[in-house]
Amino acid sequence: MNSVCDPEWDARVRAIIRTRLETGTLRSGPAAQTWAGPGLQRTCDACNSLIDTDDTEFEIVFHDGQAVRFHAGCHLVWEEERHRAGEDERHRDSVA
Ligand SMILES: [Zn+2]
Repeated sequence: MNSVCDPEWDARVRAIIRTRLETGTLRSGPAAQTWAGPGLQRTCDACNSLIDTDDTEFEIVFHDGQAVRFHAGCHLVWEEERHRAGEDERHRDSVA
């Protein structure tokens, strides 16, 4: 169900993550540590659905000790989107 190969899922999750990064609902990092393990049926901070036991759960811990959890696929999209956002900012800085 959570497949990065599914373009509809990718577009939906990417839109959610992008909006949350823009509004500050979801942190963009930098991550202090990233852990991966079996899902513990907790809520994914990107797509809000459960990370089931047969999924891989990514836990990202920030420098202040706060943490977010993602599906493996959501984590990939978050990584891409937060880097993209960072590049946009650098670009704006160099123009201004
Ligand atoms: Zn998710």
